[in-house]
Amino acid sequence: MVASTSTSTSTRARRLATPRLIATLGLFALSAAFFCVIIGYLLVHRIDDRQEADRRVQLVEVIGDIRASGADVSELDPQFLAGLERSLGFKDLRFEDELDPGQREIQPALDGEGRILGWFTWERDSTISQALSRLWPLLLASAIGLVGFAGLAFWQVRRAMRELALSEQWAWQLAHEDPLTGLPNHRRMIDLIDAALAARTPGEVVSLAVIDIDGLNEVNAVHGRHIGDALLADFGERLKQAASGSAGRIGDDEFALVLTTPDAQEALHIFTNIAKALARPYWLAEQAVQIETTIGIAHALRDGAGRDDLMRRADITLRAAKRRNSCGLLEFNPALDAEFSARRFIERELRRALDDKTLDVHYQPIVAADGASIIGVEALLRWKHPERGDIEPNVFVPVAEQTGLIGRLGEFVLRRALADAKRWPTLSIAVNVSPVQMRDPAFVGLVLAVLAETRISPSRVVLEMTEGVLIDNPEDAKRRLDALHAIGVQLALDDFGTGYSSLTYLRRYRFDMLKIDRGFVQALGQSHEGEAIIRAIVALARALGLKIQAEGIETEEQRVLLRLAGCEEMQGFLFAKPGPRETIDKMLPLANAPAAGLRRVKRESVADARPRAADRTKSARHNVA
Ligand code: C2E
Ligand code: MG
Ligand code: MG
Repeated sequence: MVASTSTSTSTRARRLATPRLIATLGLFALSAAFFCVIIGYLLVHRIDDRQEADRRVQLVEVIGDIRASGADVSELDPQFLAGLERSLGFKDLRFEDELDPGQREIQPALDGEGRILGWFTWERDSTISQALSRLWPLLLASAIGLVGFAGLAFWQVRRAMRELALSEQWAWQLAHEDPLTGLPNHRRMIDLIDAALAARTPGEVVSLAVIDIDGLNEVNAVHGRHIGDALLADFGERLKQAASGSAGRIGDDEFALVLTTPDAQEALHIFTNIAKALARPYWLAEQAVQIETTIGIAHALRDGAGRDDLMRRADITLRAAKRRNSCGLLEFNPALDAEFSARRFIERELRRALDDKTLDVHYQPIVAADGASIIGVEALLRWKHPERGDIEPNVFVPVAEQTGLIGRLGEFVLRRALADAKRWPTLSIAVNVSPVQMRDPAFVGLVLAVLAETRISPSRVVLEMTEGVLIDNPEDAKRRLDALHAIGVQLALDDFGTGYSSLTYLRRYRFDMLKIDRGFVQALGQSHEGEAIIRAIVALARALGLKIQAEGIETEEQRVLLRLAGCEEMQGFLFAKPGPRETIDKMLPLANAPAAGLRRVKRESVADARPRAADRTKSARHNVA
């Protein structure tokens, strides 16, 4: 903003420099010409006075000569007078007996005794006209020069002013208009909302809809950025046409519409129709492009909600609608405000927890299908808030993802988990990776660095990620997954079955393992469908050469059914709940004893975390590690 102001100021100054120079030169020339005229006038005036005096002296001498020759001065021949006029340079020289009062120059003609015989009179050229008659070429040249200069300066100033007006209009447009759609931008929308609020009558409601285009990134990735741009332009146009209110583009894929209506119901009705209009396919470069939108709506009723409140409410409503993954409309309600405050609380406290290092990592065993031996652990983040107590990852991880804290959080877990994994050399160590972390180009480097620091073999490390990783930027995701593969770590698709789970994804992206989501496991034993689904997933994994792991196993029946379906690895409360690293330390010797069975471990180790000395001796004997 500051930069653009200073740029426009310097452009302005540059634009005005030429006319300013010309105006200065013109002024200088004008002053010089004026000065020359004054000097010339004074010079001519002096010369004329001297010439006049000479002429007068010569006339007196001529009169003396005439008198000396005995001729009568008063009887002079008109031809002689004309000759005198020519030779001495008089204008209209006359001899008059009587003096006519007037403007003419006079010279008395005296006789020998000094009596006046008559008067020689002539016209004196005015100094100005004489000066003009002498100076006209100079004056003409100056006048032409001046007119030229003035014309040039006027033309330049007009041109500069026109350019200035255009560039000011352009700068205004840049500052207030979105160049792609021609719609008002965020800054201008603020003015338009203010104007709508100021203009509403007591019976009216001002409503604001913030509209987000879902999947613009995919359109860009699949069809190309030019189609994405064309889509935005068409979208903006459709929005403008769809309603009488003011529409604007307030972010990359975010638009806004402000409406004044008699009541909130009517505004909602209009927004619903607009949503339908926006959802129709877009015909771009001879192909139909379909998008979805999420709309957050807030109303400024008579509750004193001003512009900031209105915008904030519409915004948190949109974010809430997006979190709920509900493409469509959501209207603001006070519960969303509370939800927003709770999220803000978590964000603030989580930041503090990261700084204070009060976060912890717990580990949940992953066991072989027979349920007898631990083959790995999954690292799960734990946060015990000083006042609120335990806060679940499902609550704070999404907040961390949306606020950019997930990078630090993920790094903390990775470092801690791989450092702890040194205690259990025979176990694999699974770490959850958020899709947001995978979007970070530095993530692969971080994994490499932590592997190097901890000297853990990459083949022991399993990175668990959900299908969300593949959605936003499939190309980037593929590149990063390939790079991780190249390092030698294993990649697991977590919560399989809850996302998009398409075969295309599984074939295209090189995962090593599928983790069947808890939801499918819990359906086991309740219907035939549950088992059929598990068998289908296992068959799919086998066909694609992937390992299969089931999570959330709570009953022996589930374990048996999963084992029968061909599931190789299992995780669940049936075997052990997540616990601090010491629980795994204590569990490990027992757990790897084939005869002991993990269910006994769970009873004796997880519940009490203090295995008896007898068990320890026994386990030492059977420890396969
Ligand atoms: P997840 O990766 O699918 O982790 C398994 C979750 O299921 C864990 O919940 C675990 O405690 C729970 N669980 C395991 N066995 C059972 C069972 O038998 N019954 C039931 N009801 N639950 C079981 P938790 O620790 O609350 O974590 C929830 C989710 O939070 C995780 O799901 C993961 O998506 C996320 N999460 C946890 N830690 C991290 C982390 O360090 N980074 C990231 N990005 N996400 C994490
Ligand atoms: Mg997991
Ligand atoms: Mg899971």
